[in-house]
Parts: sequence; structure tokens; C-alpha cells
Amino acid sequence: MHEMSLTESLIEIVAETARREGFDRVAVVRLEIGALSHVSPEAMEFCFSAVAGGTVADGAELDILRIPAKAWCLDCAREVPIAERYDPCPHCGGHQLQPTSGEELKLKELEVA
Ligand SMILES: [Zn+2]
Repeated sequence: MHEMSLTESLIEIVAETARREGFDRVAVVRLEIGALSHVSPEAMEFCFSAVAGGTVADGAELDILRIPAKAWCLDCAREVPIAERYDPCPHCGGHQLQPTSGEELKLKELEVA
């Protein structure tokens, strides 16, 4: 389960931000997870409560914003929604798609307690 190591990295970033900005308690950790990022939000939540114990994020809420996947279709010359990376274009059925969003995995913001 790679969410465990991702969560450990996330907590490190949170702890480092807390040190840098001088706070010692985090209430909410807001994360963006794209539909194409191969990260399970449920697994991330599970790992978070396990990893956050004893850190600045102990007891913090993990708020996950799910970013839907979109791609640019070269044939339609417009952005289209997709469910999976290699899905065909929902309009023309073409495969000339370049993902434009959905690959995010980033710390969006922290709310301080
Ligand atoms: Zn298309």
C-alpha cells in the first residue's frame, strides 16, 4: 500500500511547514487527490490517522478534495472529462487525449488549531 509512504511524506511536509511558520497544532489538512493519481482517498484517510499520532497533525481532520480527470482531445480541440487515463474521448471516441488534470496529489492548505 503506497498510501502509507505518501502519508508519511505528507506528515513530514506538514511538520516542516508548522516549524517554519511557528505553529504547533494543525486542525485540518486539506489535500487534493486527482482521479488519475492512483492514490486511494480512503486508504490515505486510514493511513493518516495512524501516522499523524504524536505529530503536529495528531487528531487533525484530513479533508480530501477529489479532482476529476480531464483531458485535451486533439481531434475535438477541447477539454473533455475522462474516468481513466486511457479512456477514449467521450465525444469523438478518439484516443488522441492528453490529460490536463486529475494527476494532482498535493497539500492544498493547513488550518491551524
Ligand atoms: Zn474528441
